[in-house]
Amino acid sequence: MKRILITGGAGFLGSHLCEHLLAQGHDIICLDNFFTGSKNNILHLLSNPHFELIRHDIINPIFLEVEEIYNLACPASPVHYQYNPIKTIKTNVMGAINTLGLAKRVRATILQASTSEVYGDPEVHPQKEDYWGRVNPIGIRSCYDEGKRAAECLMMDYHRQNHVNIKIVRIFNTYGPRMAPDDGRVVSNFIVQALRGEDITVFGDGSQTRSFCYVDDMIDGLIRMMGTPKGFLGPVNLGNPAEFTILELAEILIRMTGSRAKIVFKPLPQDDPTQRKPDITLAQKKLGWQPRVPLEEGLAKTIEYFRGVI
Ligand code: NAD
Ligand code: UDP
Repeated sequence: MKRILITGGAGFLGSHLCEHLLAQGHDIICLDNFFTGSKNNILHLLSNPHFELIRHDIINPIFLEVEEIYNLACPASPVHYQYNPIKTIKTNVMGAINTLGLAKRVRATILQASTSEVYGDPEVHPQKEDYWGRVNPIGIRSCYDEGKRAAECLMMDYHRQNHVNIKIVRIFNTYGPRMAPDDGRVVSNFIVQALRGEDITVFGDGSQTRSFCYVDDMIDGLIRMMGTPKGFLGPVNLGNPAEFTILELAEILIRMTGSRAKIVFKPLPQDDPTQRKPDITLAQKKLGWQPRVPLEEGLAKTIEYFRGVI
C-alpha cells in the first residue's frame, strides 16, 4: 500500500484515478482548488478512511509525505483554460515546480499529465513522441500548450539535475462520465446539446479530426505508466488511435441519443488543430497497454451518465 497524491483529484480524470487507486488498496490524498473539478465527483469517496481531501491551489507549495504523485491539476477544456490564461500557465509552471519540489524532498515518483497539445497543429500524422510539434507561442491556446511544454521541460530538468524519478504521459482527447456538463469539450457539449434537443454546435466545417479515448482505458494507462521501471521516463502517448471527424462525432451522437437536434456550423476557434491521432506503439511496447473500449461503447456509457445529471 502506497500513499499517493493526486493533484486535480476532484476533476474528471482525477476522480476516476482516485477511485481506481483506492480500490487497489492505496492511501489517497486528493488535492484540488475546485476550479473545474467538483466535490460531487468524489463525494462517494469521502467516507473512505483511506481517502483525504485537501482544498489547495497548486501554484502554492505544499508539504506532504507521499510516495507517488500524479500531477493532473490544470483545466483541460479550451473554454476553461482560456478563461484566465495567466492562471493556466501559472498552474502548469508553478504546479510543476511545486510538485517536483515535493517529489525531490520526499523522493516520490511523479507522473505529469501532459497533452497531445504539445504537438500543436501537427504536420506529422499520426503523432509520435519524437515529433517536436508545431505550437503557436502567442495564440489563445498557448497558455495551455506552452504551459504543458514548460512542465515537460521542468520534469526533465528536475530529473537530470536532481535525479527526480519522473514519468511523462501525453494524453489525447479522453471522455466519459463525470465530465462537467458545462465543460465545453466536444463530447460533453454534443451529448448535452443532443439530450436537451438544442442545436449541435460544430465549429468550422467539422472536417477536423480527433481520436477519443474512454476514461477507463486512460486510467489503466496512467497507472501502468507509474508502475514502469525507474529509468523509463517517457514521454508516452496515451490515447485511442481510432480517428473521427467532428462532424462524424456529431452524427454518431444524434443517432445514439435519438435526438431531433440539428447540426449548426459556428466559426472555427483560432489555432484549432486540424488533425490529431496518437501513435501508441511506445505505450504498447513499454506499458503493454492499448485501449479496449470502442467509441460507441464508451459514448453509450457517457450518454447514460449525462441522462442522469441533466
Ligand atoms: P478537469 O478540468 O476535469 O480536471 C482538472 C482538475 O484540476 C480540476 O479538478 C480542477 O479544479 C483542478 N485544478 C485546476 N487548477 C488547479 C490549481 N491551480 N490547483 C489545484 N487544482 C487545480 O480536466 P481533466 O480532463 O480531468 O484533465 C486532467 C489533466 O489531464 C489535466 O492536467 C489536463 O491537462 C490533462 N489532459 C486531459 C485530457 C482530456 O482529454 N481529458 C487531454 C490531455 C491532457
Ligand atoms: N468543437 C466543436 N463544437 C463544440 C466544441 C468543440 O465543433 O461545441 C470542436 C473543436 O473546435 C475541436 C474539437 O471539437 O476541433 C475538439 O474540441 P475540444 O474542445 O473537445 O478539445 P481540443 O482537442 O480542441 O482541445
